[in-house]
Parts: sequence; structure tokens; C-alpha cells
Amino acid sequence: MTERILIGELGQHVGETVSISGWVDVRRDQGKLVFFDFRDRTGVVQGVVLPGKDEEAEALMTAAKEVRNEFVVTVSGIVNQRPEKNVQADKQNGNIELEIKSIEVLSVAEPIPFDISGDTREIDENVRLNYRYLDLRSERMTKNIRMRSEFVRRCREFLFGNGFAEIETPLLTESTPEGSRDFVVPSRLNPGKFYALPQSPQQYKQLLMTAGFERYFQTARAVRDEDLRADRGFEHTQIDIEMSFVKMEDVMNTVEQMVTKTVEDMGFTIKQKPFPRISYKDAMEKYGADKFDLRTEEEKEQGILAYAWVVNFPFFEKTDDGKWTFTHNPFSMPIPEHLDWLMKGENIEQILTTQYDLVCNGYESGGGSIRAHRPEILEATYKVMGYSEQETKDSVGHMIEAFKYGAPPHGGIALGVERNLMNLTGETYLREVQAFPMTRGGQTAVMNAPKPLAEKQLKELGIKVDPQK
Ligand code: ASP
Repeated sequence: MTERILIGELGQHVGETVSISGWVDVRRDQGKLVFFDFRDRTGVVQGVVLPGKDEEAEALMTAAKEVRNEFVVTVSGIVNQRPEKNVQADKQNGNIELEIKSIEVLSVAEPIPFDISGDTREIDENVRLNYRYLDLRSERMTKNIRMRSEFVRRCREFLFGNGFAEIETPLLTESTPEGSRDFVVPSRLNPGKFYALPQSPQQYKQLLMTAGFERYFQTARAVRDEDLRADRGFEHTQIDIEMSFVKMEDVMNTVEQMVTKTVEDMGFTIKQKPFPRISYKDAMEKYGADKFDLRTEEEKEQGILAYAWVVNFPFFEKTDDGKWTFTHNPFSMPIPEHLDWLMKGENIEQILTTQYDLVCNGYESGGGSIRAHRPEILEATYKVMGYSEQETKDSVGHMIEAFKYGAPPHGGIALGVERNLMNLTGETYLREVQAFPMTRGGQTAVMNAPKPLAEKQLKELGIKVDPQK
């Protein structure tokens, strides 16, 4: 077997006989000639079967006529320069053509249940997700998912280049006091007890700072049982970062550098550098929201990225039953000027937190804070929220304990991969930048979850399902 040449590299093989493998993107049967577009991960090339008199040529023509769109094939042929009048200068491989000498069918394909040659956005969501692996073959989806990979790779490279270690944290963990509803997992070994899937690696990354790693990151999955929206799914991925011996400025600058380098190297233009900074109060007055879009109509069309930092958020807000709760993150540190108020439990409504949110094109693309790294500060936060000593211990006792043994000052951030990709691709739905998202009703793509468990599994877990539910 001859070596496989990638379609994207065929231009370097003009005049040679080569072998390519991939999918039949389109077949155009013109009677005497059969044209194909072949596709692999690197691109598309046109191939042609020319008429011939001998037996071999006739057999090839017969074979070519049986090949259909989306068949998987290995094709050998001669890479020819196209005649001047047929050159499509704006197209990849528009100046060459493969004169097909043999076609080997590796896999046949039934007609695809929907058209993947164009934009699949208009196709029924359930159909698209049921056949997501076909939807992902469409040019737009392939591009989105590859762009996602590139974004994450570039962020990773930046972080590795700046002394960060990539460290994984557990998927089966304890329910966190961070806000949203948890997805829970029953424990077979401890019937009646449950793990929770992480809403974020928040506590573990702080423990890694306590452990002395100083610079951590992870491309982390976060799972939250929240109502699904255009820009929110049950699962999302975040570039999760934590750093020691830093102040707000340091984290914001590092992230700003990472984002700038990443998106500019990907060919995007940033509206304003350094990213403008605005207080929560001013943002609310000016835009009526803490996420806003700074682009003009023209800049929207040009795909420009308008980043901004929002800072000086209130630390606490009132709950419906009149208690105080945190606005963003209970592990945050107040701004230095307000630490005293927190410690004394004074002027609660005026206490500002070190939270910084990164906004881009109307979305919150990231958020983080400097953390309370001394036990008494975290205790004071919980006291403000009305927790008794025991309740605080039950909730975050392990963090308070950890901070007793020399925790460095630290802070971090999480960037939402999907929201960043939505900005880069111009997509308005999160599912367009995830390989296997869920339907609006929370059904998994391709596979059938959620579904009932077998009686045996339920028994093992000691779970009885209420048939009323
Ligand atoms: N844990 C926070 C989140 O997931 C991010 C952070 O403060 O680092 O939103």
C-alpha cells in the first residue's frame, strides 16, 4: 500500500501518483466523466474519473458510479495541475485535481438523514443531536470544534510557559456551598450517601495553593443542575486557574496576557488594550447590567472582541428571607479597605469583594477573585451569612483547617471555554461549540440519558424510585 497523503498537502505532489483516504464529500456524475470532492481532516480536493477504452478503465468507471456521498474511500491517482481556465484560485486545492486511477471503498454510507453540506443550524435539534457525529462533519461544526481545541491548546501553552502545573481534581466530590444545585451520585459502598459532581474545582485548587504548587491550572469540567439556557448547559468546561502570592492586578494581568496572546495569535482583533476596567456600580448605571457589549454595529460584523473587566462587586446581597448571602464566591477576600468591616461584621451592604469578571461581547467570559487565606476571614464571611460555628464547620471546616497550616495569599479565575468560543465563532448557542451537547430538554446527544436504572442497580444502591415522580 502506498503511503497516505493528506489532502491539504497534495499541492506539494503535483505530477506524482498518490493515495488519499477520506470521505466522498460530493459526487457529480456527468455521464462520461464522474467528478468527486474528497474530504479528510485537512481539506477537500476534486477528483475525476476519465473515460477510457480498456477493460480496466471501464471497471473503474463502473466502480465510480456506485460510490455515493459519505462513502469512506482510499483513492489513488495522479495529481494534475488544472488547466488555466478551470483554476479556482479562491479555493483550497483549486489549482489541482486528482486523476483517479483506483477507488477502494473502505465503508459504504446510507444516505445521510439531513443535509450536512451547508449550515445545519436550521435542522431540527433532536435530529441533529441524535446524529451528532454526522452534524459534526459539516464545515461549520468542524471549524467550531477545531477552533475550540486551538483556543484551549494556546491557553495551555501560555500557562505552561508561565510556570503553571496542570493538575486534575476529583470528579466525585462533596457538595459545594457555591450556589447552584448539584448533580449527585449515589454511593454503592455507603447506601444512602451521595457524592456530588464538581460545580467547579474551587476548593481543591485552593488546597493546591495550600500544598505549595503556587501556579495551578486545569481544563476542568464543571457540572451544575441549572435551568438550561442558550448560553448555559448542565456541563461546561473552564480554564481554571489559581495563583499564590498575588493581588487582583496580578491575576487580571496574567489572564489578560493569556487571552490577548491566544486570540491575537488566532487572528482576532481586540477592541481595546489594556482591557478597560469598570466598577460594578458604574456598569450598572451605564449599561444596566454587569455584562455588556462595547462593540459598534460595524465592529460586530468584523468579529472584533471587546473585553472589559468589571470590579468592585458587592460581597453580599440579601436573600428572600432577609439573610445575607455572597454574590459570587464565599471564599473571596473583601477589598483590603473593607476587610476590617467584614471582620467586625459591620457595613455589610457596603463591603466590596475582590471579584473580577471578564466580560466580552456581552457575555461573562470569566470570573474569579482573591481568596480569604486565613481561617478567621473565612469564618467571618460565614458568620455574616448567619452560619453558626457548627454550621460553618460542617460546610467549610476542612478549608478552615487547611488554612491553619500556612496557606499563602492566593487568588484565581475560571474562564468559560464555551462562552469564549461563542465569541470567537460568533455562535449564539452553547451547543454549537460543544461536541456532544444536550438537547434543551436535557437529553444527551446520540446516547439515551437520562434513563431509568435496572432494578438490580437500584437495589445495589439502596434506592427506591417514587413512581409518582
Ligand atoms: N470557581 C469560580 C467559578 O467557577 C471561579 C473562580 O473564582 O476561580 O465561577
